[in-house]
Amino acid sequence: LAVYAQTVVKPFAELALIDQIRATQAARMRRAGKRARANSPAGLILGIGDDCAVLRPPPGHEVLVTTDFTLEGRHFLRKLHPPESVGHRVLACGLSDLAAMGAKPLAGFLSLALSADLVADRKGRDWLARFFAGFNALAHTHSVPLAGGDTSESPSDHILADIVLLGSAPKGRALRRSTARSGDVLYVTGALGGSAAELASLQQRGKLSTVRLVPSQIDPNLRPHLYPQPRLGVGKALLRRRLATACIDLSDGLSTDLAHLCHESDLGAEIAANALPIHPLAARTADPLLLALHGGEDYELLFAAPPSARIPRSIAGVSIARVGTLTRRKAITLMDAHGQRKPLIAAGWEHFTRAR
Ligand SMILES: [Mg+2]
Repeated sequence: LAVYAQTVVKPFAELALIDQIRATQAARMRRAGKRARANSPAGLILGIGDDCAVLRPPPGHEVLVTTDFTLEGRHFLRKLHPPESVGHRVLACGLSDLAAMGAKPLAGFLSLALSADLVADRKGRDWLARFFAGFNALAHTHSVPLAGGDTSESPSDHILADIVLLGSAPKGRALRRSTARSGDVLYVTGALGGSAAELASLQQRGKLSTVRLVPSQIDPNLRPHLYPQPRLGVGKALLRRRLATACIDLSDGLSTDLAHLCHESDLGAEIAANALPIHPLAARTADPLLLALHGGEDYELLFAAPPSARIPRSIAGVSIARVGTLTRRKAITLMDAHGQRKPLIAAGWEHFTRAR
């Protein structure tokens, strides 16, 4: 768990558990570190077990850093989210930021504040073990070594997880929000609104599924909220093939993240409602468009490309949909199915503040 050698772990009840997780991670990292040293001039040179981790980006690359808080009660509810999902989502939101820049992950650092009950009894330890099963499965999928972090007993009864991810991208080539041009076409990956639709149905049912969800055994397309898939392959391909002029990940919802991209690029946009790829789970709800525009947490990518660019229908196995264009006029508008234009107000998801 979190780690590790950089700090003195607070002496709470189940130090044995922490030591055990730490030893497992340290052994995993030693192997990864040895592999890194042996096989490649880049990557994690020194992981858990020393005062600092040592990373070496590939020659000619820059290091990218992103950090995200996950707070119990705001980003997840223990009564709704299986622990595997919480672990998965902690890592997925950071990886999505790397994907948005076209970066390749170098290493992750995870710090956890644990409520007393998590270390006090068997049930709590089971929760933690399952949290790490979810975290490690996604880390393995994208070859992200956990290279450090910290852990402490929280004075509150809420869990807090803080992830720091480092990635690398060729010098000067990381995809940005600010570099789109007027007339560029806007595209999104995958489908929108699925995460909000799945969350709504989880909330409606109001209790945790008794099924143990093991990420590798489920179809992520059916679990867009519990197990969102960061689009690292798409981001890397956009960068490598020089397809995109700008890119952002859809963490807060299309309306909000499009506004960020427009603001940073000093442009406006026009989106066509009937061009939006609606997730099948959202399509079954009363207002699919609402979820697709404002639902949030889809972790898809929104990118811009010149009208002359030939954008394939799918990249790295993920479908790509053309949804609108960027305009010199600063307004952001939505054209409905009847050709009527109205302002698109940024109204992204606020997690559990409005949802409850
Ligand atoms: Mg982001």
